Amino acid sequence: MSTTPKKYQAISGMHDLYAPEILQWQSVEDGARQIFHAYGYSEIRMPLLEETDLFVRGIGQDTGVVCKEMYTFEDKGGVSMTLRPEGTASVVRAIVEHSLFQAAPLLKLYYMGPMFRHERPQKGRYRQFHQIGCELLGTSSPEADVEVVALADHMVRKLGVTNFELQINSLGNQDDRANYINKLKTYLSRYAADFGAEDRERIEKNPLRVLDSKNPGIQKILLAAPSMLDHLGCEARAHWEAVLAGLGHLNIPYTINTRIVRGLDYYGFTAFELISSELGAQNAFAGGGRYNGLVTDLGGPDLPGIGFAIGVERLILCLGDKNQPTQKKIIYIAFMGEIAFAEARKTAYALRKAGLSVDMDYEAKSLKSQLRHAGKLQAAHTIIFGEEEIKKGTAMVKDMKTNEQKEIPIDQLVHHFANQ
Ligand code: AMP
Repeated sequence: MSTTPKKYQAISGMHDLYAPEILQWQSVEDGARQIFHAYGYSEIRMPLLEETDLFVRGIGQDTGVVCKEMYTFEDKGGVSMTLRPEGTASVVRAIVEHSLFQAAPLLKLYYMGPMFRHERPQKGRYRQFHQIGCELLGTSSPEADVEVVALADHMVRKLGVTNFELQINSLGNQDDRANYINKLKTYLSRYAADFGAEDRERIEKNPLRVLDSKNPGIQKILLAAPSMLDHLGCEARAHWEAVLAGLGHLNIPYTINTRIVRGLDYYGFTAFELISSELGAQNAFAGGGRYNGLVTDLGGPDLPGIGFAIGVERLILCLGDKNQPTQKKIIYIAFMGEIAFAEARKTAYALRKAGLSVDMDYEAKSLKSQLRHAGKLQAAHTIIFGEEEIKKGTAMVKDMKTNEQKEIPIDQLVHHFANQ
């Protein structure tokens, strides 16, 4: 007995990308590459799978990402593996593993690719999403922070995002943060009755995360909460002021937002996000910050770092219909009869070798049907190889917009199209 085969669907929160949308992705990736190169970054590609422990140590045991969102499983050897939820921990693992820091005093790396988090899917939030990110290691100078923030701002503008805000904060050094966390806990404990069990646990384990709560009740309580910026020591204050001065000098507009804490434990000093009002609830489309202790935490030397990651899906949502790349011009080749097919195939090969985009069918269909195919592909021109013309050594070139036709010698077709 035959059963109807099951039709499979992509996993919830994970998407196929294809034309025409893929053209915008390619244009974003190409544009991002150019800008990274302009700032001296080189690409690194890491595996999608890492030992789970790397993320637990790197991102932090009590963060939302590690506690709730990782795709973790045991492989056939019984080792706990995780599909990477972000890029920084893997980049740092690679730097330490290959001693990449020995090549130059400053290390500038960028990456692009999918990340995985088991979140509840909604607009702008997916389980497989893509990041374009970079890391600058080897300096704790605030000038590096200025350059990295400027790079993020430059990149998204160049890619076509206009309506966004750069929000920035300082998370201080470790001592400042510990001191501030105590003050924040004391303040929040006064409102313990207003928090649910989950928030109370968060206050205990990761109180900074309460600051970016979307819950309106909590936001109201936070209005009078102590601010991290009032708890910066001398070192972090000088760093903060230098970063703001540098951004001012480059005329990069920013807003100070003392609620930006970032979801991952490794951040200190500068933290920033790019926010767009066009995105709804998931309004941050890029985020980054400084992480001075991460490389030593992952077994490497004392290498301070700073980086950011742009979420590609959210960036593309911000772009909307703006900056839509146009498809490369296509030439369609139609033919009638066997002899015409041989000429058509040869011409297609020659045109493709000349770098032109050419399409054709393999079976002799009616001219009408071939022209319909050309129309579907939005071909700019169709070259028609007919029996009569072939005898004269020519082919008809039809402009698909104006319907104008021109007879051109076959041996001049490459020259004709290459010079258009
Ligand atoms: P994070 O690594 O959490 O700092 O995120 C950096 C950027 O990645 C965010 O600003 C988003 O643009 C994007 N991002 C994070 N999580 C998701 C998700 N689940 N779906 C889509 N984009 C995401």
